Amino acid sequence: MLSPAWISRPDEVNAKVAEWAEAYPQTLLAESRAQFAGYPVWALTVTDRSLDDAAKRKAIILKPHAHEPAPIAAQMNVINQLLTGETLDGQATPLDRDRILRECLLVFMPDANPEGTARAPVEAWDGSQYTNEEFWAWMRGPDPNTGLMWKRVDIYDDREEEVLPTRRGIVYEQIDEHHFVEPNRHHASSLFQWLFELLKRHEGVEMLLDLHQTEFEKSPYNAMVILPCLYDTQPPHLQQYEREWAEAIVAGWAELDGVEPMPEIKPLGYTGEQRQYFVERWGEIYGRYSKLTTEIQNNNPRTPPALQQRMNEVAIRVSIQRLLGAST
Ligand SMILES: [Zn+2]
Repeated sequence: MLSPAWISRPDEVNAKVAEWAEAYPQTLLAESRAQFAGYPVWALTVTDRSLDDAAKRKAIILKPHAHEPAPIAAQMNVINQLLTGETLDGQATPLDRDRILRECLLVFMPDANPEGTARAPVEAWDGSQYTNEEFWAWMRGPDPNTGLMWKRVDIYDDREEEVLPTRRGIVYEQIDEHHFVEPNRHHASSLFQWLFELLKRHEGVEMLLDLHQTEFEKSPYNAMVILPCLYDTQPPHLQQYEREWAEAIVAGWAELDGVEPMPEIKPLGYTGEQRQYFVERWGEIYGRYSKLTTEIQNNNPRTPPALQQRMNEVAIRVSIQRLLGAST
């Protein structure tokens, strides 16, 4: 049973955004781009809109992958707290919302691929119904020859592939009649289209927080923060900012029961083709912005959905506290 504080299904997200937009026009700007499949991809700007944005501290929070729903639920719950003063299940928020709304401009992109999310067989992956192999076959689609997950590519054309998955992987976003992309690996995705627009619109974005989940197979840990793969080439002030920010998130997680964050904070460890996708698609952004990726365990009874959501909320809350310059 998911908690009433968990909202991740696109129809529920859309209904909640409509309700907020109606009730809180002074503190929420709700904008969407339509995916090829028709679903709205929201960019939700939360700030006191009566105040000039120039002096505000700015962050963009994003969630690329449709098989990783906890970051949607976490963002929805944080936004609800900022707008209403309460969590989605009616608890008073610990956030200093007046100050946050006055001093910060936060853009949340709770779900960059709602069409993928809508095709998932579950709202949350708790490890009780699907093995990781079955889960991965949902993520990239089942290969007809092996039944295991199909391949990971930045983009594919369904007219050109020799072997197509028997069911399209939910991680892939359809961008036209025949092309499908992994959102954080191709600039034609709704994710990148929004990100480029937002970075053009807002001067001085300080933080990009990229929320993910992974399985932590054979790992003693269930959470980690990852620095950009090009960390070593980033300007020193960004490196220092990212390292201190990452340490604060790890410290925040360590206070929760049931969380064992990986203590080492390292750059993304991909090699070969997967690394090249990141260098090509994110390289320019890494040169100009502080960016962290968080990974919370998915599809494992050790980390139930409520805890997945909570850990994502802590990552967001710690990030907001750093924007305010407050100690965490
Ligand atoms: Zn991911």
